[in-house]
This record gives sequence, structure tokens and C-alpha cells, in this order.
Amino acid sequence: SVEYIATPKRTKELLNKYGFNFKKKFGQNFLIDNNVLNKIVVSAEIGPNDGVIEIGPGIGALTQHLATAAKKVVAFEVDKTLVPLLDETLADFRNVSVVFEDILTADVKQVIDSEFADCDRIHVVANLPYYITTPILNFLLTADLGLTSIVVMMQKEVALRLQSSEGSKEYGSLAIFVQMLADVDIALTVPRTVFMPQPNVDSAVLRLRLLEKPRYDVGEMKVFEQFVQAAFKQRRKTLANNWSELFGGKEQVYEVLTKAEINPNIRAENLSIAQFVNLFSLFNRL
Ligand code: SAM
Repeated sequence: SVEYIATPKRTKELLNKYGFNFKKKFGQNFLIDNNVLNKIVVSAEIGPNDGVIEIGPGIGALTQHLATAAKKVVAFEVDKTLVPLLDETLADFRNVSVVFEDILTADVKQVIDSEFADCDRIHVVANLPYYITTPILNFLLTADLGLTSIVVMMQKEVALRLQSSEGSKEYGSLAIFVQMLADVDIALTVPRTVFMPQPNVDSAVLRLRLLEKPRYDVGEMKVFEQFVQAAFKQRRKTLANNWSELFGGKEQVYEVLTKAEINPNIRAENLSIAQFVNLFSLFNRL
């Protein structure tokens, strides 16, 4: 049987043995709880023939569990001082390879094509470096990687925002973009006590099950995103105020809202995704 490293004792031993120092600039908070790691892997719904991309393996705590569940794991790690540590902790796992590159500049598509050709489905599973949660999600959702799911630990507050619906304070353009492309839910929430060092925020694992195609057909997604972003420009203002520049005047905004039978004094946070899509198509016909 496998001896997993994610206990406080084992983690400390390894860090001491290699004289490893945490680097804040890389968002290094390592998981020290095998129970939580097991829950993450279960929530990722990984089949025995599936491939997994991990972002930021650290000392390999999550990687070990992923390797047990998947056919193959490829992990991207930016911190090269972790090489000897990962050599030790992953030595018994033949189906893992680590690429020591920044996930945002690596050729991930090429790696997927060459490493996962014989896999059924591909998942991204990670305990993300929190300082680049949004750029990483943006990259994963726009790079056309053929992913089935993305299951990632992030700051709880960000996870709540991404899974929120209209009418809630957390709702915004990022939630809409993500939910256009995926079914989104929070698989588990995680207290700060299961990390070393402890972060000063609580965390949650967000699960994105990617749709075959966007939830609604809006043509160029980038243009739709800009349309939605403009609506949320100043949260306290009405839609008509925020959109007036984009529409070439408030009158045009009122015209479109009237056509859509929407209250002209509404704020962006009260519009559903379907309503945004409808307004976008009316705007495009102005
Ligand atoms: N997976 C490990 C765990 O759960 O214990 C470590 C998670 S830690 C929150 C984030 C990891 O991402 C660190 O190992 C850090 O060095 C790595 N990292 C930070 N920025 C990165 C980047 N741009 N590309 C790849 N890895 C990165």
C-alpha cells in the first residue's frame, strides 16, 4: 500500500530534509490532510482511463492521490527547487511526469496532445496558487484543451463568486463567463488549518463540468464578455448608466430593455445569464 506524505509530521520531515523554504510569491500553501485530498480526488470523478493535469504539485501531496486514481498525471510546477523533493515523493508513481514550467507560458496543448492521446477524458485538478486563480481559469477556459472538468481549490470568497447567480452580491461578469462554459458547483469547503503554512483565508474546491459547447450561442465569446463587463462597470449604477457609452446613449439602452420587457431601472446583478444573452442579441441588431 502507498504511504501518502500529506500529514503534518511527514511534510515537516521532508521540508527539513531538503532545507526547503516556502516562497510566498508562488502562493505556496501545502495540503497536510490526506482526508481532504481524498475528497478532492473523489469530487473530480476521475476514471481509471483518464488523464489529469495538475497545476503546482508542491511536494506532491495531491499528485500522489491523483496518480492512484488516474491513468496518467502531468504536473506543471514553476519552482525548480522542488525537483529533489518531488523525485523522492513521486518515485513509486510511474504514471506521473512533472514539467518544471510556468503553467501560463507552457505549451499545455502540446503536452496534452502528446501525453494523453490514449486517455478517455482529461481533467485539471489542483490546489491553485491563489495569486493567479483568475488568469489560470481564463487560460484553461479559452485554450481549447478538450477538458472534461476543472476541479480546483481556491479562496472560498472567489469560489462563492464564481458559482453565484443573479440577485446575489457576489454575482458578476466572471461568474457569467464561467457559467456560460460549465456547470459550476462547490464540491467542498476547506478550513485554513489543513495547509502548511496556514493561509489567512478559508478555501473551497470549485468544480467545473465543462459543457460540450457554450450554454448559449453568442458568437464571439470575447465580445459577449465585454458586453457583460460594461454592464457591471459601476455596481451601484443602473444598467442604463453603465451601458450608455457602449450603446451610444441611454435612449438606445432603454429601447433594448423595453423590447426585452425588462424594468429600465434594473441593475446588472439582477439579470440572469439568459437575459444577458437576449439583450446581447437585441443590442447587436440596433
Ligand atoms: N499541490 C500542492 C499541495 O496541495 O500541497 C501545492 C499547492 S500550492 C497552493 C501552489 C503550488 O503552485 C506551489 O507548489 C507553487 O510553487 C506552484 N505555482 C505557483 N505559480 C505557478 C505557476 N505559474 N505555474 C505552475 N506552478 C505554480
